[in-house]
Parts: sequence; C-alpha cells; structure tokens
Amino acid sequence: MAKNKPSTLVMKFGGTSVGTPNAMTQTVANIRASQASWERIVVVTSALSGVTNLLVESTERAIQGDEVFISQAETELMGKHWQLAEKLISSPAQQAQIKQEIKHLVAEFGSLCRAISILGEATPRALDAVVSLGERLSVRILAGALQSAGSPAQFIETTHLIVTDDCFQGAHPDLKRTEQNIQKIIEPLLAQGEIPVLTGFLGATEAGITTTLGRGGSDYSAAIIGATLPADEVWIWTDVTGVMTADPRIVSQARTIPEVSYREMAELSYFGAKVLHPKAVRPVVEAGIPVRVCNTFAPAEEGTRVLRDDRAAQKPKNGTQSIVKAVTAIQRQRLITVEGRGMLGVPGVAARTFGAVAATGTSVPLITQASSEQSISFSVPSDSAEAVLASLHAAFTDELAKRDIDRLWASDDVAIVTAVGNGLQETPGVAGQIFSALGAAKLNVYAIAQGSSAVAISLIVAAKDAEKAVQTLHHFITS
Ligand code: ASP
Ligand code: MG
Repeated sequence: MAKNKPSTLVMKFGGTSVGTPNAMTQTVANIRASQASWERIVVVTSALSGVTNLLVESTERAIQGDEVFISQAETELMGKHWQLAEKLISSPAQQAQIKQEIKHLVAEFGSLCRAISILGEATPRALDAVVSLGERLSVRILAGALQSAGSPAQFIETTHLIVTDDCFQGAHPDLKRTEQNIQKIIEPLLAQGEIPVLTGFLGATEAGITTTLGRGGSDYSAAIIGATLPADEVWIWTDVTGVMTADPRIVSQARTIPEVSYREMAELSYFGAKVLHPKAVRPVVEAGIPVRVCNTFAPAEEGTRVLRDDRAAQKPKNGTQSIVKAVTAIQRQRLITVEGRGMLGVPGVAARTFGAVAATGTSVPLITQASSEQSISFSVPSDSAEAVLASLHAAFTDELAKRDIDRLWASDDVAIVTAVGNGLQETPGVAGQIFSALGAAKLNVYAIAQGSSAVAISLIVAAKDAEKAVQTLHHFITS
C-alpha cells in the first residue's frame, strides 16, 4: 500500500452488536476506539437482533391473513427501535427526527404486510421490501448514536450504493456499478472525515427496486464494500470471539483460532461454522483484503484473522499447531444413494442425477461416488429428501423399470462431520489417524469426501454419533 493512501477500515456489526442499548453503546465505543488507528472508517450494520426474523415471520403470517400478528409486530418494532433511539441519541431534536423516521418505516411495514394479507401471497420482491426494513431502521439509530457520542456520521441506505440483479431474496451484486457509486457517494464523505454508516443485507436493481443478498447477507455487504472501496481490512463484529475450533456447546475445550486461511474459512462456513457467511468470503479473497472476526463484548481480544492462503500456509511460528484446525458438523442431513449395475460406464447418470436434485431447488453439500461407478451417494438436508427422491424416481423411470438402476434410497438422518486444516491432504497419514481415532471410539463412518477440497475431510456419520465424532476429531487439535 502506498504511504500516502489513507488507511481504511470497514467495520461490520451483527444484530447482537446493535440489538440492545448496552450492545449499541459498546459498538459506538468500539468504532470510536478504532478511529485512533484508522484514518477512514466505514460502518456496515445488520438489523437489531431478532428483527429480520420478526419481519420474515410477519410476511408468513400476513400471507395467512393474520392481521393481529401484523399489529403486534408493529408495536414490537416501534418499541424496540424507539427505546434504542431514546437511550442513545442525546440531542432532543435529532432524537425526535429519528423517531419520526422509525414511525414512517414501521408504517411502511404495516402497509406492505396488509397488502400481502389482502392478496394472500407475496412475491420475492415484496418479501425483500419487508425484510430490508430491519437494516433501514437500525442504520439510522447507529449513525445517530455515533453523532451523539461526538463522531461525525452519516447513515446511507445501500439501495443507492449496491447495484444488484433482480434475483430477489438472494441478489447478486454488480461490483463495477457498485464501485462507481462508492466513488461518488462514500469517498466524498470519507474525505470530509465522516463515518458512513451503511445498511447491510440490501441493495437495489438498476431500476431502484430494493433487493436483499440472502439471509445473513450483511457480511456479504461488508465484503462488497471492502472490496470495492477498497479497504485495507474488513472487521466483522459479532458476539463470539472469532472462529472457534469447534462449537463450544459440543466441545468444552473449544478455543478461538488465531488465523485461518480463506480456504479454511470457506470450508468452515460451508460445513456449519456460523461465524462468517460463505459468500462473504469471496469478494475480499479476490481483492486480497484481510478479514478479522472480533467480539463486540471483548474488543481487546484478537479474535480470528482470515488470511490469504499463501500467508496462512506459512508454518505456524510456535510449531505446535495441529494440522486439523477446526471440526464442524452439519446435522439433519440424509444420504441419498443411486445404485445399479446398469450404471457402470454409462455416461450422464451423474449429470441426470444432479439435474433431478437441482430441479427441486436443493443444494448438495457432499458427494461421493464408488469407483466401480455402481453407486453415487450424496447428502441433502433431511427436509428436502422426500422431494429429491420423488424427482429422482421421475428422472429414472425407464432405468428403474429396466433394472439398470436397482435402488434409489435415502438413509435415516445423518450428520456431516468435517475436519478443516491447510495441508490436511498433503500430510501423509492424517486420514488414517482420523479413521483410527473414530474406529477406536466405535463410530461408524458411512461415507467420506476428501477430494473436493484440499483443506477438508468430511465424513458422514449417524445423527446420534455426530457429537462424539466431533469430540473425537477435536482431540487432534488439543493433544
Ligand atoms: N439482518 C439480515 C439477517 O438476519 C442480514 C444479516 O444480519 O446479516 O439475515
Ligand atoms: Mg446477522
């Protein structure tokens, strides 16, 4: 980085970092503390904790015509946001102004939900109009709170900033367009020494229709902003200290991982570690910008740094770090198997299998194929298994009739347990050690997927064995 370029930090706050007066006070303090070491700060915020869920539930109730629920939700939204504004915004005029804006946004919520209730249905576009309200509410209060604390801040709805396609509920950003908007809108604010406070989660189509980036999308927003500014670092503030070696509810010795590579992080998010949204990793990876995951309520702790693969691949300084860095589990999966002697050497069976799965809108976290080509197994979320089986039966009616495919079936509930660590696959003997340990613990492994990623080994175990498998593999980290 050139010396004369001012240092720029993007700080993103999750719902629990802004959800209560105490949390938001802490967040304001954390932002102000960062001003000492960073010349320019851009803030991205989620909705207050619980608000997006309430908005989603309201749309569902509205479709059923439940107007009582809508009224209750209005009261709850008003109460939560007004209380925060009253506690955090000291100037009476500004507080009154923001409370007025909250009232208008909540009225917008009520109108939208009542329209949905009359229609008895909601398009994805209508859903985005409702669920994006959470961030439109929170951003005003956080910017106001910063001003009350003495930091010049300006809230911005990212409908003016993040340009997306029209895949409502899971829109894709146009980074070029977004970058132009950032130059136009954010740079001048930064130049004036202001802290722009941006809504996470939402954007708009070229025509200006509000979209959202998918649930948990505020991290993605922060990454998009970080990559396009570009920022020097992106810090994701949450309510746990970084990325942990395992879910501490399952493994009591779980601890924070100081550094993970982007690839490890992507695997961890993909395989169930809820700290960072997988998509969020991508734009910053490509821009080579480091990400740090920190705890709003323990800001002095280092948290976890997500580094570029080449930097993270360097040997740990103390030499004691294990090759396995983290163990995760995804529960409530079922293993689907397509099996038949007639599949041997027949091209296109896999393509048709996954075509049939895709037709149900189900994504597949894990695939294995026996080398004999006589069976393909893959996991899907348990709730989708019946629909996937039906779709497969329809796709392979002829093959089933001719017995080219003998069997098409779903297992009982299973879990995918994944060990993540750079070099897991290059290090001889690791897989063997993992299987010995599982064997010694009397845990049966139904399927394995190793080839897909150089930094992870995934195993399918019975649902009831998942916790024990995670604990067993965690020994590789602590011993
Ligand atoms: N508020 C949105 C959600 O809960 C986005 C986010 O928090 O990341 O999904
Ligand atoms: Mg969130």
